[in-house]
Amino acid sequence: MKITIFGSGYVGLVTGACLADVGHVVTCVDVDTAKVERLRAGDVMIYEPGLTELVRRNLNANRLLFTADPAEAVAAADIIFIAVGTPADEDGSADLRSVLAVAQTIGTHMSTPKVVVDKSTVPVGTAERVRDVIAERLTARGLDIGFEVCSNPEFLKEGSAIADFTRAARIIVGTDSARVREVMQRCYAPYNRNHNKIMFMDIRSAELTKYAANAMLAARISFMNEIARVAEHVGADIEQVRLGVGSDPRIGFDFLYAGAGYGGSCFPKDVRALAHTARSVGHEPVLLSAVEAVNTAQKNWLFDKLLQGLGGNVAGKTVAVWGLAFKPNTDDMREAPSRVVVQSLWNYGAKVQAFDPQARREAERIWGARDDLKLANSADEALVGADALVICTEWSTFRGADLAAVKTLMKGDLIVDGRNLYDPVAVSEAGLRYLSVGRSGT
Ligand code: NAD
Repeated sequence: MKITIFGSGYVGLVTGACLADVGHVVTCVDVDTAKVERLRAGDVMIYEPGLTELVRRNLNANRLLFTADPAEAVAAADIIFIAVGTPADEDGSADLRSVLAVAQTIGTHMSTPKVVVDKSTVPVGTAERVRDVIAERLTARGLDIGFEVCSNPEFLKEGSAIADFTRAARIIVGTDSARVREVMQRCYAPYNRNHNKIMFMDIRSAELTKYAANAMLAARISFMNEIARVAEHVGADIEQVRLGVGSDPRIGFDFLYAGAGYGGSCFPKDVRALAHTARSVGHEPVLLSAVEAVNTAQKNWLFDKLLQGLGGNVAGKTVAVWGLAFKPNTDDMREAPSRVVVQSLWNYGAKVQAFDPQARREAERIWGARDDLKLANSADEALVGADALVICTEWSTFRGADLAAVKTLMKGDLIVDGRNLYDPVAVSEAGLRYLSVGRSGT
């Protein structure tokens, strides 16, 4: 099939490369011309395991093309995916400007029938708005071309995006059209061979499913963070509570970690956008508001602990930060807990020595050069002369840290661990003080 994808970010690029890999001819369009040039040369600027190889393989096979020319891209396709960003607007609602701009572009350049697929995370009713925008453009051009819009939300996770896409638990397609069903069946057939993973439903339900899924996962995290607070006060250990709770098959272990709060490009904005949708229809989203409030408090918790551990003052102190990405195996720092900690440290006059295995380039882009920031080349380098260490991301490389060496490299003796990576006894035996999440002894 001939497929065009608008937006070559985490979702668009993974979708494009994976669909090309099973034999479709995929054209990826992006407004960022520098990105397009680099992708044409096989240079994938984001860090996502396996993505560079996948992109290069399909570029070389001429199944994956990159362009900044939307006319060429729209003409080339039977199916057009919209995978552009939908960041939070100031009032918490999803900012649909990029999605609707793509709809305009499609309507401006379309001259044969197409199936348009909303893959971006968009509020209920957006497919109808996309349809209206395209129809208006066609009418303005004096054309009457059959086209259909469906919803196909994406559930991949950064860090395991390719596996999530290729081995998705389910592929949700919201449509009321038999033709779209048939087209989407063919599109996903290579990923749908053993048992049927495609779930067809009405468009509004598909749109709401994506938000409901993310809000549920965010709620699990906030729930555990709330229980962690209680655990600290009552003398319980959240890690043992987690094992006890998660082993109930009705609950399970996924997304059940207490920590530094959820971040990333999805959970924070999607919880807010769903709350906004609820309010817009007159329903006060009590639970969603609590999920967000607990998360905001948890992101501040790391700094509060640090302040407490350093005697109430961080001015003039040097703090090592391990992990800047919002989670391991990605370079994405959008809404990462690290950003709250680092900003608070700067606000209170501390210097930061940070290390992240993949997010250095992103940190440079976000923060630029500053006197109170050193981006270290290794975890050890970040520790040299530090008064304290804060762990924001659970990169596996940090798990095996030599705690005695940590103690030697640091000037101070405090670890504030937002990810509960270590056994408190082992940290204490290394001569370090340890403040972690939901463990009263630390
Ligand atoms: P991103 O910011 O990484 O990428 C978006 C891309 O779209 C950018 O390259 C941008 O230049 C491009 N773009 C913007 N306007 C455009 C236009 N008019 N025409 C062509 N390209 C345009 O975003 P992302 O993380 O890939 O997310 C995309 C959507 O998928 C969002 O709605 C997001 O909520 C959703 N989603 C993201 C994830 C994730 O883990 N990142 C997972 C599931 C769903």
